[in-house]
Amino acid sequence: MNIQPQASHFIDGAYVEDTAGDKIDVIYPFTGKVVATVHAATPAIIEKAMEAATRAQREWASWTGTERGRVLRRAADIMRERNHDLSVLETYDTGKPYQETSVADATSGADALEYFGGLAGSLTGEHIQLGGGDFVYTRREALGVCVGIGAWNYPTQIASWKGAPALACGNAMIFKPSETTPLCALKVAEVLHEAGAPAGVYNVVQGMGAVGASLINDPRVAKVSLTGSVPTGQKVYAAAAAGVRHVTMELGGKSPIVIFDDADVENAVSGAILGNFYSTGQVCSNGTRVFVQKGIKEQFLRRMTERLKGVIMGDPQDEATNFGPMVSARQRDIVAGFIAKGIEEGARLVTGGKVIDGDGYFIEPTVFADVSDDMTIATDEIFGPVLSVLDFETEEEALRRANDTPFGLAASVFTADLTRAHRMVAGFEAGTCYINTHNLAPVEAPFGGSKLSGVGRENSKLAVDHYSEMKAVYVAMNDVEAPF
Ligand code: NAD
Repeated sequence: MNIQPQASHFIDGAYVEDTAGDKIDVIYPFTGKVVATVHAATPAIIEKAMEAATRAQREWASWTGTERGRVLRRAADIMRERNHDLSVLETYDTGKPYQETSVADATSGADALEYFGGLAGSLTGEHIQLGGGDFVYTRREALGVCVGIGAWNYPTQIASWKGAPALACGNAMIFKPSETTPLCALKVAEVLHEAGAPAGVYNVVQGMGAVGASLINDPRVAKVSLTGSVPTGQKVYAAAAAGVRHVTMELGGKSPIVIFDDADVENAVSGAILGNFYSTGQVCSNGTRVFVQKGIKEQFLRRMTERLKGVIMGDPQDEATNFGPMVSARQRDIVAGFIAKGIEEGARLVTGGKVIDGDGYFIEPTVFADVSDDMTIATDEIFGPVLSVLDFETEEEALRRANDTPFGLAASVFTADLTRAHRMVAGFEAGTCYINTHNLAPVEAPFGGSKLSGVGRENSKLAVDHYSEMKAVYVAMNDVEAPF
């Protein structure tokens, strides 16, 4: 499959190239070889995207919601029809196994397009009756040009999760993918335009952080939605604040999974596998601090070790492979550094821990036990397949320690005790909580973090509020009374 895109950028409904921009090589994480090359956006490219988006947004916002929704739902159908090719591309872009990408990436992008396509026709304001016959009505209006900036772990999904609600509300989008995975967002743009989105409504420009920064600082931009790390979020939020722009920040995490003695151990192990090893651990909401009540600790560790024998590492395009390489040599080295630190600080390495020799950026799924709260592997986001087991005795202790982090993205509890489950989630300082599962993100439910993990929510009806604003219109039915 030739995965070299027709050109680096997609602007005003067409592929656009400008080779004056810095070269960005796309490396397939399984082979370490360059499989495609794009160029970062030059100021001329950014200007072209801004002009196209600003112009197109006015026309797009004048369509009825039903008409916009029809385009999004058509795009969802096209995406599903092309799921195979889009999944193969996602696997080249990220190294995630096809076994995952074929069910989690273009499919979840299509879900977002379908869901927000369905909502578009029902977006309304409200009527507020006042005294004397006067009333106020509100108009739900688009924000304008929105900038989306993506991380590298879910390039198709992130481009769709930001694009679908933005477009449903009548905005235009300029999306900058991560420089590590620049290919998939171009396909999202292609699909939307094939489905009938007017030229300029959804644009993709490539580049490093500097391109993202130029986009945010442009006065024509009304909103910035970032998926990325906390340090980047702090910079992007500050830059957006200078222009008082709307923001959605989907940032990093160090989420807890709390497993009580009465939990179904097999389920808890499955949840911890999903919450630590899916996408080779490169998921923001991963539950990397696994608090296990002392009574079942050894059983949990034994079953986890046995279940990890089912890991099949190999060519990610092979459907049998269920564990891919890290996205880049750099990320692999960062994770290897954390593992070394875990050992140095006295955690017990239960299984894994090794970098695999060869061209691919593989690292073994790794489990540490006897981890204490102050160890680096328990405090820092690793963004790799490293699970830390921390022991606890009481519910009060588990909740206090689970919340003892500046992050607040996700949290889960495994228990058979219903009331305890609800008590725990009420106490969790996290935006996305789970009872007896972990890491699911259906489009119907809000997704996002509290504390340092972010601002705003993606998915669900709530996303509409983050991509539109209400204009209040006071209507007088009586003469104006003035004091003189
Ligand atoms: P990153 O913060 O390094 O980069 C994210 C994006 O921001 C990239 O496109 C990058 O080019 C851009 N960027 C960097 N500096 C910028 C600047 N000054 N101005 C504008 N844009 C800038 O993150 P990453 O390494 O690509 O992704 C991993 C991180 O993303 C992890 O922390 C992970 O938890 C987080 N993440 C969060 C979610 C979520 O929904 N909460 C989802 C996926 C990933």
